[in-house]
Amino acid sequence: MKVTRREFFKLTGVAALAAVVVGCDWENDPVFSHRLEDAKEVTTICPYCSCGCGAICYVVGGKLVSVSGDPDHPINEGALCSKGASLLNLNTVYNLRTHDPELNPNRLDKVLYRAPYSQTWVEKNWRWAMDRIAKKVKETRDESFERQADGITVNRTKAIAHLGSAALDNEENYLLAKLMRSLGIVNMDHHARL
Ligand code: SF4
Repeated sequence: MKVTRREFFKLTGVAALAAVVVGCDWENDPVFSHRLEDAKEVTTICPYCSCGCGAICYVVGGKLVSVSGDPDHPINEGALCSKGASLLNLNTVYNLRTHDPELNPNRLDKVLYRAPYSQTWVEKNWRWAMDRIAKKVKETRDESFERQADGITVNRTKAIAHLGSAALDNEENYLLAKLMRSLGIVNMDHHARL
């Protein structure tokens, strides 16, 4: 059977609607009812892009059970795009067999370190990681800092680069830019080029 593009969209739209109507019992859904009745609300910023939409995390017994757009946030006024609407899945995935929510097993929450030329990752604590980063930055800056170039005062290091992130909010980016400039780092970029 030949299906035109228009017919394909009609068929898939009807199928999706039927799946939602048949498959969802919102009132008895534990996640949905928790969110309405028992949850503590914690506001946050969506980490996916620099629009910085506001979101509300719903927490029950120390566990995140749902996330929605924050209607009081001036940027998005409660709306979230499709990426933001899936924020819960940063933390929670659904077991394909039981359909129960469970902690995302792929989410890294520990520091992993692979030494130069090693093929294995070793678990480290945050204190170790912060100390090591600080030590490496200081060593590299001390070795590479230039006060003058072509007779002009530059006070810079070109041996360190900083790559920003759309997953940071305005204030974090402001502080990072200040920190990098105070170290004399001139190579700064951002993965979304914003
Ligand atoms: S909800 Fe969408 S538009 Fe808003 S910050 Fe997140 S990714 Fe960006």
